[in-house]
Amino acid sequence: MLAEMPGYGPKSAQRAAFHLLSGEHARLKTLIAALTEADRRLHRCPHCNTFCESDVCDVCADEGRDRTMLCVVESVADQLALDASLAWPGLYFVLAGRLAPIDDVGPEEIGLPRFIERVAEGVAKDGLREVVVATSYTPEGDATAYYLIDALKKRWPDLRVTRLARGLPSGLEIEYTDLSTIAGAVYSRREA
Ligand SMILES: [Zn+2]
Repeated sequence: MLAEMPGYGPKSAQRAAFHLLSGEHARLKTLIAALTEADRRLHRCPHCNTFCESDVCDVCADEGRDRTMLCVVESVADQLALDASLAWPGLYFVLAGRLAPIDDVGPEEIGLPRFIERVAEGVAKDGLREVVVATSYTPEGDATAYYLIDALKKRWPDLRVTRLARGLPSGLEIEYTDLSTIAGAVYSRREA
């Protein structure tokens, strides 16, 4: 299971497992208790799919957010990084990762149908006018972006669809990018 975690391969997973098992037993128990507690308290926000403890997450509940702008990201970690940059005034939608046909991860698996529903709701209720596709500049992130852009343009030809500027390092996840670079990429986002 550890080997399926982001950034982990079979070797690093084995190292992590040995590290956890060889430490003090109390530490492992604390970790198990913390994860169990998080699993009990956290659920997915019905609007954006991020993790939250209340019915709706803080961002979606924030009246000050610009509801005409939606940013779609690959992970909760990417959403947090983008939000920490303070550059994005709108709302978010969190996909369940990115397309990976080799591993049988297709549009359904990453939550595309729910995303399309969310955009439809936004257009109907909030006058949604822009969607920023903020997938990573990795080959799979690019493929996911093209797929999303195509799906959006087919359904809503008048919707502004943009992508974060190329200032983001190629091959890097947004969550590992420094905040000023993220902010720059948001400000100079371009038409998709
Ligand atoms: Zn939310």
